[in-house]
Amino acid sequence: MTPALTTDERPERTRERSHHGRNRHDGIHENGVARGRRRFTEDRPDAPDGPDGPDRPDGPDGPEEPNAQDGVDAVQSGDGERTERARTEPMAVYPLRDDDRYLVDTEGGTYVVDLGSDTCTCPDHAIRGNRCKHLRRVDMEVGIGRVPAPGERVAACAVCGDGVFVPVRETGAFLCGDHRPAVGSFVRDRESDKLLVVTGVTTERADEYETEEGKPIADYDTNAAYGDHEPVIEAVYVGNALRSPGPLDVSGRKRYGFPASRVRRLDPAERPDMPVIGL
Ligand SMILES: [Zn+2]
Ligand SMILES: [Zn+2]
Repeated sequence: MTPALTTDERPERTRERSHHGRNRHDGIHENGVARGRRRFTEDRPDAPDGPDGPDRPDGPDGPEEPNAQDGVDAVQSGDGERTERARTEPMAVYPLRDDDRYLVDTEGGTYVVDLGSDTCTCPDHAIRGNRCKHLRRVDMEVGIGRVPAPGERVAACAVCGDGVFVPVRETGAFLCGDHRPAVGSFVRDRESDKLLVVTGVTTERADEYETEEGKPIADYDTNAAYGDHEPVIEAVYVGNALRSPGPLDVSGRKRYGFPASRVRRLDPAERPDMPVIGL
């Protein structure tokens, strides 16, 4: 079970997932798994590599691609073939709700893979005890961010609706990598155009998060144009601080809450070149 993440840790994971899923493995995402039953395409050899790649849990299995000239033994050959089939055969993987299990739909049947116990209901695993192609395929899809890892579920970004992986038991409102500002980054308030530094990204909705006077953020007139369901971003005003030398210390500054889409992230050229401390 993945330990619960704090709100400060989650953006890193979200970004990482979205990077793996959408950018680095574009070929697979677009042409292979995303449409369910199409084969992985020609980019297969580099697709599942990398530090988080699906090869990770297979460590002691030896080479994934048997080399006939080396005379690999039967066991390695079988594993290599299973990995190959896991990569290339049409299979659709669906996470089952709130546990570590996944439904794997194939042309030969539908099986349940449990990553918690590392088991599959197919004969290759259940009878012969092999690490079957279904287990391998689920590992691959978790590795590229196609399906949530055990302990995670898919939530919708409150701004754009894109899927984002969050801890199963965490409730509230969430943001995707594109709409989640980094803590410590400079943003602008769309209402006043004032510069802010983000000090926190909460999972509390704007109609639940209350200011000191006991009023929900969403009830303020200046927030009427933004979604009540959006999570609240906490930030401090920068004011004249950029004129002073040295890093910007935000520790003593008053924190304000904003519905997520009210703060605008800055292009690199717009960002002040000043370190922020005291977050
Ligand atoms: Zn299986
Ligand atoms: Zn989004």
